[in-house]
Amino acid sequence: MEIKNNKLKQLDKKVGDFYRLSHRYLGSLSNLYGREVYKRELADVLYEADQITPESTFDDLILKNIQSNLRLNDLTLDYLSDPNFSLDVQSFFDKIAGDGAFQLLEDKVRSPPWKNRWEMSEKTQERDYTRVSPFTEEAQKAAKAWVPQIKEDILKYGKSEGLLPEDFKMNILLLPPKDGSESSNWNSVTKLFSLGSYGFDFFHKNAEVVAIPTRAYNVAFHEVLGHGAHQINSQNMPFSCKFTEEVGAMTPTKSITEGVAMNAEKECYKFLRDRMNNLRITEEDINLLQEGMELENQTMNEYMYYALLKDKELKEKDFDGYKHLLNLTKNPVMARAFKENFKGTFEDLWKHTGHTLGPLHYEKMRQKVENTFGKEYLDNNRKKFHKATLTGVWSWEIYPDAVTYFMKNN
Ligand SMILES: [Zn+2]
Repeated sequence: MEIKNNKLKQLDKKVGDFYRLSHRYLGSLSNLYGREVYKRELADVLYEADQITPESTFDDLILKNIQSNLRLNDLTLDYLSDPNFSLDVQSFFDKIAGDGAFQLLEDKVRSPPWKNRWEMSEKTQERDYTRVSPFTEEAQKAAKAWVPQIKEDILKYGKSEGLLPEDFKMNILLLPPKDGSESSNWNSVTKLFSLGSYGFDFFHKNAEVVAIPTRAYNVAFHEVLGHGAHQINSQNMPFSCKFTEEVGAMTPTKSITEGVAMNAEKECYKFLRDRMNNLRITEEDINLLQEGMELENQTMNEYMYYALLKDKELKEKDFDGYKHLLNLTKNPVMARAFKENFKGTFEDLWKHTGHTLGPLHYEKMRQKVENTFGKEYLDNNRKKFHKATLTGVWSWEIYPDAVTYFMKNN
């Protein structure tokens, strides 16, 4: 994957540096001098981008992607820091997330899946009678016993699906429970996957402690076969769409990196269903995991909507979020919870935009590829498709075209 145009090659390198600057500025948005520095550099790279005439389809994708990243990222920073920002809250969100995105959040808030939520809490309560604390020695022993098997399964599946190179090696460490939720992570440099103890549910069954590993598999698919595979397959891409922390932290790319990883979770459910006996888990274990993750995403969408309403209250004098929600949901408990307990604004929830919008933007890409090549071709060329989805970290605006390009040219 080579850029042809020389000026674009220069710009690509320069943009890598600019993304780092933008990331630092995001960390100190109140600094008005920092804002001047950021804006000056932005004007400079935008001007250079305007001077370039792409010499290939790939050049064109790279240039448009740089422009999309710069524009949408700048819009976010302006929304947070420009006192004269011109767009209203809904128009802003639709610009950074796509037309109709605000409405989609509103629909989810208007009619949440109450039945699923109710059934989930009933089922979980039943299970909780036999639950064992992760802090016990027995629980940790039971979790540890799973680690080699998880490692073997992930490597085998990743290689057979073409997600990981054949000579790929990795290590898994189990994190201590601490507060029970210490998060898992993937270190792409050392190829170390640290798995949080929350990946397991511990139960007392037939006089022993058993660990149910469904969530651990889910996390391993997300981190290693999602983010890890995306990173490895983007290594040879130009700077502006390699998987680095700064590129992945631009507003319009966050939903692509998370969309890819969340799609890997979907593959995980299939994987688990095919191996229920081997893994000594039940359909119920998998359903609880899958439904739980779907409800989690619903909650994130609701929080994002609440945050935008809080912003609306700050920005629009006459807007009353409580009244608006009460009218929308006919649910005074929800409206009160928003008024009394919900403290976040978009600035606080920004870091979750990837997880919130990931499934939406991934599906937009899949839809475009399916429309171009047909469902049958896609079903018969799964490996090729997966590889194309993992090549480069793109803005969600460009991602559908980029994946289509790699399907045609690889
Ligand atoms: Zn992730």
